[in-house]
Amino acid sequence: MFKRDTKDFINIDPLQTGGKLTEEARKALAEWGDGYSVCDFCTTGRLDEIKTPPIFDFVHHQLPEFLDCDVARVTNGAREAKFAVMHSLARKDGWIVMDENAHYSSYVAAERAGLNIALVPKTDYPEYRITPENFAKTLEETKKKGEIVLALITYPDGNYGNLPDVVSIAKICEEYGVPLLVNAAYAIGRMPVSLRKINADFVVGSGHKSMAASGPIGVLGMREDWAKIVLRRSEKYRNKELELLGCTARGATIITLMASFPHVKERIKRWDGEVEKARYFASKMEEMGIKQLGDKPHNHDLMFFHAENLYEISKKVKKGRFFLYRELKARRIHGIKPGLTRYFKLSTYGLSREEVDYVLNAFAEILEKYGQNI
Ligand SMILES: *Cc1c(COP(=O)(O)O)cnc(C)c1O
Repeated sequence: MFKRDTKDFINIDPLQTGGKLTEEARKALAEWGDGYSVCDFCTTGRLDEIKTPPIFDFVHHQLPEFLDCDVARVTNGAREAKFAVMHSLARKDGWIVMDENAHYSSYVAAERAGLNIALVPKTDYPEYRITPENFAKTLEETKKKGEIVLALITYPDGNYGNLPDVVSIAKICEEYGVPLLVNAAYAIGRMPVSLRKINADFVVGSGHKSMAASGPIGVLGMREDWAKIVLRRSEKYRNKELELLGCTARGATIITLMASFPHVKERIKRWDGEVEKARYFASKMEEMGIKQLGDKPHNHDLMFFHAENLYEISKKVKKGRFFLYRELKARRIHGIKPGLTRYFKLSTYGLSREEVDYVLNAFAEILEKYGQNI
C-alpha cells in the first residue's frame, strides 16, 4: 500500500484545506471508486441526465441555485471549465484580458485556446491589489490592439488571497461589451458566491480545492445566453456537448462532490467566522514580526506572509532554508512548501481555535529556539 504519513497532520496548505473530504464523501469514495461507476445508471448518454444517483437534480437544480446562475455544469476541474469558455469564445487574433494575479492555469488555458493575453497589473508591495481602475485601463489599451473576447478576474487569487472589487470590475466589462469570467476556485464552497449579484457572465469553481470533493472536478456556472455557445453540441453525436467532450466527471469525483454538498452549503454560512479566524491569526503573526501582505484587514483564509526573521535564521542554520519545513513537520504541521522561509502562504480554513493557537505557538517556539526574541 502507498502510505501518506501527512494525512493526520494539521494542514495549513491553502491548496488542501477546503478539499478535505467529509465523512459522507469518504464513504461514497469507497462505494463509487470503480471506474465509470456512475455510468451503470446512464440511460441517455449524458452524465448530467443521470437520475439515480441524483446527478440530474444536482447539475440542473442544486448547482445553479448554489452559484445563483442560470445554467451549470460539472467539468474535470476549474481549469477545464475556464478552457471550455475560452475555447468557445476564441476568435482568430482575439484577446483575453486577465488580472496579473491570475492562476497559471488561466494563462495556460488561454494559450491553449489560441488567445492573445493582456494582463491587468497589480499594485506594488505590500498589497498587490487588482483595482477596477487598472482593469479599465488594460481593457482600453487592449481594445486598440484587437477584439477582446473575454475578461477574467481571479476571486480571490491563490497567492495573496485578495478579493478584488468584482462588482465594479463586472460593471466596467459590461460597459466595454466584454463578457467576464470570475475564477472563484478559492471562493465557491468556502464563501457565498452569486453570479447574479456580481453580474458577470461565467463563474468557475474547483471541487477538490474548495468543495470537499476528491476531484479532480470543477463547476461552471453561466448566464442563459451563453449556454447555446459554450454548451453547443456535436454535429454527429447530437446529445454530446462539445466543450465537455461529451461527459466530464464520470465516477467517484462527482459522487464525492455531491456527498459533501449538504455540508458545503452549510459551511459557507460560517464564512464570517473563517475571516475572523484568519484575521486573528494574521494579527498574532504580526506581533511576532511576520508581516501579512495583500488585503488588510484580510478577507480570506488564504494569507501571504513576509518573514524577515525566519529568513535571517535560514541564512545561519546548518541545513539552511529547509529548517522551517522540518520544524513544522516535527510538530505535525503540514503545508508550507519545503525551502520557503521569507515569503510563504498558508490557510487557516477549517482549523479549530485550538489548532490555530497550536500553529501560532509553533511559530513562536521556532523563533525563540533560534534566538529571535519576540
Ligand atoms: C487551484 C486554482 C485553480 C486550479 O483549479 P483546478 O480545479 O485544479 O483546475 C485555478 N484557479 C485558481 C485561482 C486556483 O487557486
